[in-house]
Amino acid sequence: MSDTTIQRVQARQVLDSRGNPTVEAEVRTGTGFGRAIVPSGASTGAAEAVELRDGGEKWNGKGVTRAVGHVNDALGPALEGRDATAQEEIDLLMTDLDATTNKGSLGANAILGVSMAVARAAADTLGVPLYRYLGGAAARTLPVPCLNVFNGGAHAANSIDIQEFMLVPAGFPSYAEALRAGVETYQTLKQVCAGRGLSTNVGDEGGFAPDLPTNESALELLVEAIAEAGYELGKEIALALDVAATELHREGRYHLEGRELVTGEMIDYLAGLAERFPLVSIEDGMSEDDWEGWVELTHRLGERTQVVGDDLFVTNEDLLKKGIAEGAANAILIKVNQIGTVSETLQAMETAERAGYGRMVSHRSGETEDTFISDLAVATNAGQIKTGAPARGERTAKYNQLLRIEEGLGSSARFAGWDPFRRAR
Ligand code: PGA
Ligand code: ZN
Repeated sequence: MSDTTIQRVQARQVLDSRGNPTVEAEVRTGTGFGRAIVPSGASTGAAEAVELRDGGEKWNGKGVTRAVGHVNDALGPALEGRDATAQEEIDLLMTDLDATTNKGSLGANAILGVSMAVARAAADTLGVPLYRYLGGAAARTLPVPCLNVFNGGAHAANSIDIQEFMLVPAGFPSYAEALRAGVETYQTLKQVCAGRGLSTNVGDEGGFAPDLPTNESALELLVEAIAEAGYELGKEIALALDVAATELHREGRYHLEGRELVTGEMIDYLAGLAERFPLVSIEDGMSEDDWEGWVELTHRLGERTQVVGDDLFVTNEDLLKKGIAEGAANAILIKVNQIGTVSETLQAMETAERAGYGRMVSHRSGETEDTFISDLAVATNAGQIKTGAPARGERTAKYNQLLRIEEGLGSSARFAGWDPFRRAR
């Protein structure tokens, strides 16, 4: 007999991939167990839920012992005796206990750790995989792995100001085949860079982080690597960007390649890139406070290109609804720690799907061995995931979990391919 009653909730401080402290939470039910670790961003949106840090001298102020204490002393006792399968009720109870709109009193890191661990404990108790527990019988779509192979911006100490350059290997029959093609291209890119005397050191998300004169030259190197790896540009492997433009935006101007661009010029710049390269997705092409720019960018590019709001929406359903009403973006980036509970994440994804918005599930630049987002992507049939380059254990952990899921689904597995993207190539 399975017993889904929560018996014990516990947290501890562990490390993320940048060596910063983060929250690990554990939930024990009558007959099951779940554990989860919370990720952490560097180029964070202003409206993200609050990641509670200790301050002070230890860990350069980044300790999370207060958040851990809130799990052990406040959230845990409140949850004990409750049914782990009542995810929404549990998440609501935690947000009520926090009693702020941004989870700033108990900490979104405390709340999310428990929220994810509750889902895992419920799945474990019922003896089903996490993607099946979260998504039910309909969960069977493997996402396109969007591999971030050049790291710039806040994720690397190099000269590239666009934050992420991604390979989108969608033109393949299965996730495993797509991943292989992406990995081969990543390895080829390393040789292409080395052959030009460029650094092949990697950034926070495992992508190479060379000094390059322009963003366009990074795209050209990707085109070369795809060809050299033996794949067809645009047909088998397309490209995507995360501009992370909020980071480039100061005093109403976009600071790019030594120039200062007003909104219209920034849009022209991105449109130019989309014309010269097969960009199927552009994330945060505009700053989070440039809503008019977002509407204009979506108007210009949205027919053919996925326009993804990350800092703009911060996985927040209310901000997403504003975007849907105004025509800002046509897709949302999904980061569980931006909003802070599993239920709110699922809710935002449902609203996006209903509005015809794309949903790209995402890691953070500060990650851990936790693979929750891999299961989340399959559970929701999101069709796309970005979780870095195929390098660094915290990134490959997610890609590897998707290999396991594809194998587990067997003949019922379906690969998203070009379906999630606007322009079938
Ligand atoms: P972050 O970067 O985790 O540092 O916010 C990822 C992204 O901007 O998509
Ligand atoms: Zn982003």
